[in-house]
Amino acid sequence: MSQLLFPPRSSGAALWLRGLALGFCGLACGYAAAQSAAPSRACPAPQRMQALSQAPITVRFVGDLVLGNSHVVENIPAEWDAMYFGQVEAYLKNTDLTLGNLEGVLTQYSKTLKVTGTGRSYAFRFPPRYAKLLKDAGFTALNVANNHARDFGEQGFADTGDNLRQAAIAVVGLKGQFATLQVKGLRVALVGFGFYPHQNMVQDLAAASQLVAQAKAQSDYVVVTFHGGAEGDDAVFHGNSNELFLGEDRGNAVAFSRAVIDAGADLVVGHGPHVLRAIECYQGRPIFHSLGNFVGVGGLSIRSMAAMTAIGGVQLGPKGELLGVEFLPLRFSERKVPQADEREDASHLVNWLADNAKFSGQFLHVPANDASRKVLVDWAAKTVPSAKVRE
Ligand SMILES: [Zn+2]
Repeated sequence: MSQLLFPPRSSGAALWLRGLALGFCGLACGYAAAQSAAPSRACPAPQRMQALSQAPITVRFVGDLVLGNSHVVENIPAEWDAMYFGQVEAYLKNTDLTLGNLEGVLTQYSKTLKVTGTGRSYAFRFPPRYAKLLKDAGFTALNVANNHARDFGEQGFADTGDNLRQAAIAVVGLKGQFATLQVKGLRVALVGFGFYPHQNMVQDLAAASQLVAQAKAQSDYVVVTFHGGAEGDDAVFHGNSNELFLGEDRGNAVAFSRAVIDAGADLVVGHGPHVLRAIECYQGRPIFHSLGNFVGVGGLSIRSMAAMTAIGGVQLGPKGELLGVEFLPLRFSERKVPQADEREDASHLVNWLADNAKFSGQFLHVPANDASRKVLVDWAAKTVPSAKVRE
């Protein structure tokens, strides 16, 4: 089912362990300064994420989580529990806040109105007990403003919220609302956006700005997470313009992200394209334009660009000051779960996207091993010919 996109790889296990033991490499990891016109405020140079952060407050985040589908949910074997996050748990657990996008529902309700089986429409349903599994893996907040949150109607949506709350996971993305978490004395607000009218919409910049300003007035640090943008290999690139996919208006991710930062957001985390996108710094605030897939069991493609994934993070001071930006490159195993990648293709990809971005801005480059850069860049240029690579 899965296709390896690169030549066969050596086992990553030894290198993975070595990576864990190396500790910080800081600026020596290869940070490159941002391009384009000098902005008024800069972001710290990204670091390679270590399992244990030394910062007073560490916030980490991932993209789409799919842990089953309507067909297999009743038959998921218990031994899969350890499979999903087994290789990355240390990075998700050793945090003060871990956020993901729950791309489906936690419910026993099995009726979907979606027409599945066409290859273009999917209904994602996961066992309710997975709420605890997600909590045990480290997740403290999950976004439900996405295009699969109502795959099993209002019942499925309501059950999901109930199951998450029971597992002590904050529900992010309810319309007109934001979640607030106390993190070591820091009041953190989380606001989730999707592209449907029953959600906070990425398309409505005025309403988005208003909600974020409201969240900011009641908290010290505001995280905006949004689901939007086109999908597929070509979607690694986006412009400062509206994106359409399957006839749906999926917003202008650039205008949206900058508008919510202008309104008070301190961090913007995007997902939805199922592929990675560049990392921007706007007014001293990081925008992870898309973190791609994180777990795709039962539903997501892991071919081509979709095989690369990552964990993003920020390190904060006690008052929410941005002390550091973190990035951990990963890739999918054949079972569609994140695992170590000694070649750090995800890092090379986000750097390549930054170098060839379709809109002007200040972009962040993450540390990556120079020796393996060319393989990814050559492959990416062939895979997305529209990139018009500048080098
Ligand atoms: Zn989606």
